[in-house]
Amino acid sequence: MINYKKFLISIFCLVCYLIPTHTSISETIKDNGASVFMYHRIGESTYPSTNVTIEQFNQHINYISTNSFNIIPLSDVLDIILNNQEFTRNTISFSIDDAYESFYLNAWPKFRENNIPVTLFISTEIIDNKTNGYMTWDQIRNFINEGGQVGQHTSSHIHMPLNSKETVKKDILNSHKSFVKELGFIPELFAYPYGETSKEVINILKEFNISHAFGQHSGVISIYDNEYYLPRFSLNEQFGDLDRFIFAVKSLPLIIKDFMPSEMYLTDNLKPKIEFSIESNIDINQLNCFANTGGNWSSQKITNITEKRVQIILDDSFKSGRGRINCTVQRDKNWHWFGYQFLIK
Ligand SMILES: [Zn+2]
Repeated sequence: MINYKKFLISIFCLVCYLIPTHTSISETIKDNGASVFMYHRIGESTYPSTNVTIEQFNQHINYISTNSFNIIPLSDVLDIILNNQEFTRNTISFSIDDAYESFYLNAWPKFRENNIPVTLFISTEIIDNKTNGYMTWDQIRNFINEGGQVGQHTSSHIHMPLNSKETVKKDILNSHKSFVKELGFIPELFAYPYGETSKEVINILKEFNISHAFGQHSGVISIYDNEYYLPRFSLNEQFGDLDRFIFAVKSLPLIIKDFMPSEMYLTDNLKPKIEFSIESNIDINQLNCFANTGGNWSSQKITNITEKRVQIILDDSFKSGRGRINCTVQRDKNWHWFGYQFLIK
């Protein structure tokens, strides 16, 4: 017999933060989702934690190009969420963070050749400073002219929850100035640097009329997700092999509501009481949740509060850095995922 828990742990660590679930579908729940992928560097093996090899990247693109997927721009993913529409089955989308030159040289030609839409999240000051290893504004303009989309990623790639409101606002404002100067517009899409946010940061985004934001916790997006904390599957050398990529593209969302605690930045209680309601029609007894408590991934105890609401009783506190929880349910042959990430003081 396959070591089931070991298998689950390996999958969790894959994109290192994921999502999922359901069973017999209630008529009102729209339970298709979108798997959004995030790359940083391509073909820069000196940075394995933010890089995929060219071979891994080619395998991903060859796989989705020769199988039936609904590949849409990230802006379309957002429109579907904000307009409460429904995702087509097997919807996927691609994003690239930070605008490393290796993306432009090694990956963009392949995306373009295969007519795959891409969104590039840019921290403007890094480009303004002509930082070695990053794209130039000329390259970014070429990318846009060739069909690429761009998104906001602050000016200085700031740890948003760890800075004062004033600093964060100034940083966003600076990025807007650079975008207007260099491109003539401010992009709509927004992704948090390091995938880090907090309730205070979300309120700042609202002040800027930013309607949503993407994180870096793994999981399949459903239209019921918090639009200010949308998951993406992060790909790197360790978690970028084809079997894991295929697992992520084929996964479905686990639709949950009323996730607690509502604060993503934990400064005080590092062993929070986690609760959520499951809207997917699944057998709750089949739910498995893992968390990186105490610095290691381990299975967590789940108790039912009501028929649809569960509590996860963590076995240990989260360690400083990123506290992650991933829950899965397999129904028929489909895996459903839910993932969440806390920033831990
Ligand atoms: Zn980044």
